[in-house]
Amino acid sequence: MIAVARETRDGESRVAMVPELVGKLTGLGYAVRVEPGAGRSALIADEEYAAAGATLDERALDDADLVVSVQPLRTEAIRRLRPGTATVSFLPTGQEPATVRDLRDCGVTSFAMELVPRISRAQSMDALSSQALVAGYRCAIVAAGLLRRFFPLNMTAAGTVPPAEVVVLGAGVAGLQAIATARRLGAVVKAYDVRAAAAEEIRSMGAVAIELELETLEGAGGYAREMTEDRAARQRELLAPYIAAADALITTAAVPGRQAPMLVTAEMVERMKPGSVVVDLASETGGNVEGSRPGDVVRIGNAQVWGGRNVPSQMPGPASRLYAQNIVNLVTLMTEKSEAEGAARFAPDFSDEIVAGSCVTHDGEIRHEPTREALEGALEGPA
Ligand code: NAD
Repeated sequence: MIAVARETRDGESRVAMVPELVGKLTGLGYAVRVEPGAGRSALIADEEYAAAGATLDERALDDADLVVSVQPLRTEAIRRLRPGTATVSFLPTGQEPATVRDLRDCGVTSFAMELVPRISRAQSMDALSSQALVAGYRCAIVAAGLLRRFFPLNMTAAGTVPPAEVVVLGAGVAGLQAIATARRLGAVVKAYDVRAAAAEEIRSMGAVAIELELETLEGAGGYAREMTEDRAARQRELLAPYIAAADALITTAAVPGRQAPMLVTAEMVERMKPGSVVVDLASETGGNVEGSRPGDVVRIGNAQVWGGRNVPSQMPGPASRLYAQNIVNLVTLMTEKSEAEGAARFAPDFSDEIVAGSCVTHDGEIRHEPTREALEGALEGPA
């Protein structure tokens, strides 16, 4: 039986399963139980889950084989699970040592969506990408909403209004989606990323790739590397004129496992034109823009600076739909179908690199090496 948890963390509006996809799980042979109200903040009524074949049950988690959620379960919920129950959710292990300890000590087999290896076979299970896509779109819409002028060029009998100039820093999944959205709204877009491959992707979205006289920074797995302080200073200096000329700046830069790089100082924002807008998607992880505050709009000089906070959750319907599809694909991989009974058995095969790579705890142990190393010692205090 698969249980769908009601999210309890502040500001979380998504839900891990949507009614349209319940049939995929029952089709595999699972019973699906949903905690009442699980879809409420994503505007999904309990009746829609029931009509799709799920059961609504306040105690859905109690005898589940697998519990799916967006955010990690809270201690009270983890302690209600039978040993051997599995959970699938986002699980930022570095920020949640106590949750990892509870999962380990309760004998829960936990999988973290952010640890699903980014190999081609796992693309359909890649929740970091699906949620980054939502966040990138939202950033461009927020910038367009805050800016008190048109994004597109308007040629009218009353005269011509030039298009807005948008600069995007960081052209990964979110940045490219922000570029594409700003372009669809008609803005002139310029973008910069430290990875060499990004320039071509930026151009393919109809934007201008900003080329700086700096070496590119490719790290492992196609991600960016961290900058030295010298390089960071030089990058800021070279980007300053582009930022000063922009009507809207959108920043989405990240380096895996590190604080977000600080790309734009308050002084650079102060040099922007009156009415300019800055949208910092990385605000929660340290910020690409000095002075941005997650979940807030602050004024720096003449600009309004919007700091992102759980941005995918601001579009809970589509974000939940995409996340739920990622979950269905991962669960399908972990399901052993018995032809005879037509029933599914949740039986993750740990020799599969996707299963092994995304597992955090199993059989009373922390299986994810970096988490075990980072948390060793720190976890042995009183529970
Ligand atoms: P991310 O969220 O870690 O980072 C966002 C972007 O910030 C990246 O493009 C990075 O290069 C950029 N960045 C870092 N430091 C910067 C700096 N100082 N200045 C400017 N930009 C900076 O990255 P992501 O969006 O998750 O993806 C990054 C890469 O991984 C892309 O090449 C993407 O295509 C690839 N990817 C592969 C798969 C897959 O194979 N399944 C899935 C998703 C993404």
